[in-house]
Amino acid sequence: MNEKKILFNEPFLSGKEKSYIDEVFDNNIFDGNGPFSKRAQQFLKEHLSSARVLLTHSCTAALEITGLLARLGPGDEVLLPSYTFVSTATAFLRTGAKLVFCEIDPNTMNIDAEDIAQKLNKRTKAIIAMHYAGIAANLEEITALARDHNVLIIEDAAQGLGAEWNNKSLGTIAPLGCLSFHQTKNIHCGLGGALLINNEEFFSRAEYIWERGTNRGDMTKGLSKKYSWVEMGSSYYLTEFQAAFLLAQLESLDENTKTRKHIFELYQSELSILEREGRFRLPTIGENRKSNYHCFYLICNSIDDREKLINYLNERNIQAQIHYVPLHSSKMGVSLGLDKDDLPLTEEYAQRILRLPLHNNLSEEDVLKVCEETNSFFRR
Ligand SMILES: *Cc1c(COP(=O)(O)O)cnc(C)c1O
Repeated sequence: MNEKKILFNEPFLSGKEKSYIDEVFDNNIFDGNGPFSKRAQQFLKEHLSSARVLLTHSCTAALEITGLLARLGPGDEVLLPSYTFVSTATAFLRTGAKLVFCEIDPNTMNIDAEDIAQKLNKRTKAIIAMHYAGIAANLEEITALARDHNVLIIEDAAQGLGAEWNNKSLGTIAPLGCLSFHQTKNIHCGLGGALLINNEEFFSRAEYIWERGTNRGDMTKGLSKKYSWVEMGSSYYLTEFQAAFLLAQLESLDENTKTRKHIFELYQSELSILEREGRFRLPTIGENRKSNYHCFYLICNSIDDREKLINYLNERNIQAQIHYVPLHSSKMGVSLGLDKDDLPLTEEYAQRILRLPLHNNLSEEDVLKVCEETNSFFRR
């Protein structure tokens, strides 16, 4: 038996993080919005073709800023997936708006556009497009619906750095997009995030909100002599230490994606026979999309299969994992008056998905071992 445990995830390291952090001491600026923050923002702006980028201490924070920018409040409705991370919901719940959870599209595990169409109404103010596993949500339909109903799209591109839809980077397609640099993401700085502002209309207010509600940015640019309180805001910076760490990683983004692509494609080819036999379904990237290979998963044929396969792999030192507990049927969802039966497909597919290890330290040997064990499970 192989003694080594194949971990589900390991944080990426480019190797340059420590030397960049040393430079923070030379700069003598520690709080944020300093040289490293500016370089990391510039990198993202150029690399993703975003109009403006503000680094934040988390994606959750960036999502909260979008809630303030959209002036969401009581009486408004926000459409969002139930199959997502908590932050997609909680950032908007605190605005006082009503959360309207939508059904899953089982082919992509993204939000179902038909359900969005059903639930859109006069009170709908925003649609949250979360791009699951680094593959774009159904933006073909969602952008059309948002246009017809004059509703704002906010992209939760926490998992989407470097992925594309129609040759555009995820997070830059809607007026507002959010990225995460949490250590479980492809590129990280421990904790961190970014707000991508793709519509001029939001530029100045975004900066005020980010600057604790002040127009300090205007002063730095020489547009005003002193600064004061002008907006609702909070303390949203990323520290210079984190920005230095982040830049050290961003400069290896293409290499990082290449490694992940290789692992993803190896899984795909090694597991294709089992898929053709109908044992499970593998993820597909879809038309006009580029993935960043954030996750690799199987959709098992039944809840029972998923349970048994996960245990089988875990017993063999392979950390296979489930993913989200749907938000609408979580404790908080139920307290908002929602019921498990409201979104039956979400309930079912949340229990049929199984994620396999995918990180940059995974060797070909590791991937082959995972595939062999998966194969032996179905051939027992
Ligand atoms: C990771 C993640 C977040 C939260 O990111 P933080 O940077 O940890 O706040 C939000 N939404 C989705 C879809 C995520 O995967």
